Amino acid sequence: MTFTRKVADLVPIEDTVFAVVDLANKEAQRIGPENVVNATIGALYDEKGELVAYKSVFDHYNLISNKIKAKYAASFVGNDSYRNQVYQWVTQGADIHLAHRVIATPGGSGAVSMTFSNILDANETVILPHIAWGSYKLMATQNNFDVKTYSLFEGDHFNLDSFKFVCSEVLNKQKKLLVVINDPCHNPTGYSMTRKEWDEVISFLNKCSEIGPVVLIDDIAYIDYAYDIPQSRKVMEAFNHISDNVLISVAFSSSKTCTSYGLRCGAAVLLAKKEESVREVEIVFEKHARAVWSNIPNAAMDNFTWVTTDNYFNFLSEKQDYIDLLKERSSIFMEEASKVGLDVYPYKEGFFITVKCKDNKQRDALHEQLIKHHIFTVKVNLGIRVAICSCSIEKTKGLATAIKMLID
Ligand code: PLP
Repeated sequence: MTFTRKVADLVPIEDTVFAVVDLANKEAQRIGPENVVNATIGALYDEKGELVAYKSVFDHYNLISNKIKAKYAASFVGNDSYRNQVYQWVTQGADIHLAHRVIATPGGSGAVSMTFSNILDANETVILPHIAWGSYKLMATQNNFDVKTYSLFEGDHFNLDSFKFVCSEVLNKQKKLLVVINDPCHNPTGYSMTRKEWDEVISFLNKCSEIGPVVLIDDIAYIDYAYDIPQSRKVMEAFNHISDNVLISVAFSSSKTCTSYGLRCGAAVLLAKKEESVREVEIVFEKHARAVWSNIPNAAMDNFTWVTTDNYFNFLSEKQDYIDLLKERSSIFMEEASKVGLDVYPYKEGFFITVKCKDNKQRDALHEQLIKHHIFTVKVNLGIRVAICSCSIEKTKGLATAIKMLID
């Protein structure tokens, strides 16, 4: 007898990331941390191997009164001060003239999953990148969606042909599109699309929208670790050109921006040409919030607002130090990769670099070899993810060479 719903997937989650993190920790205990390269963890770590928790974020959080922490949020869609500030923050420096609404969510995960659940019906198809954050697939399965994937790259740029092909195929059948783009700082490749690539995507989605409604999720989880922050916002001006039948749900993670992964806070920023389009989706999202998580931690929202306004310069300066650190670690890896001829997906910025594998068999063999050599990474589709966000400069040096040697 089964107690769960008929369509429930009873196979336990195989959390490949946590399994290998655990393996790395055990190996560090056995042979000493200095002999292990742990490039598994997808959170920001400093040069001493400690999780980064910004002073500019947490000192103030700790001063928030117990009553504010205890209080319910002002509404199911979040505190107005937070919603306004998220919109300012996400679009800072970009001239966006679209109707918009912001709904507070538990992290970026909440924004993506809420959009999945309320845009498509069961047995419809969501379109994802072929190399992607694993949770998208889980969210799709939980909603009983089918998944189609577009190939992300053609050479060293966005594969527009594949994107068009897959969207057209789904559109012809379904007369509606829900498509995910994770940009900038794509997880796990570190790719960021150019303005020209965004223009081409938007112009194509506009054409699609002549046949049926089009919803684009732009997952910007890592946007605040882009190497060119103004540019990360400027490209959003491409969104101004969407047609009436296109809606964009920008999934923002205040948890990632503020290195407060456990303090669940994020938002779905809805953008559309018409006021009534964003309002309609907001009504449905509010009910979803009420039914699933009710409200978002009051103090997490208030803290984000304070950190990004009153404490703006301290926060930016502290965060910039870590962006510079990411730049340094990634340059070491990329320069070495290029020198030794290690094939990686086109990396531009962000937390991760991914080594190319010709198939998943080669990937599995390489991953195993790396573990034997005390190098811990994460397997992704057709690649090996190296989390430079948590790997010190010292440990990054020589890493590309070691991986290349094991491939050969
Ligand atoms: N999107 C991507 C690509 C991610 O990698 C993650 C987390 O790892 C998220 C969204 C969700 O982040 P959170 O829910 O912690 O804000």
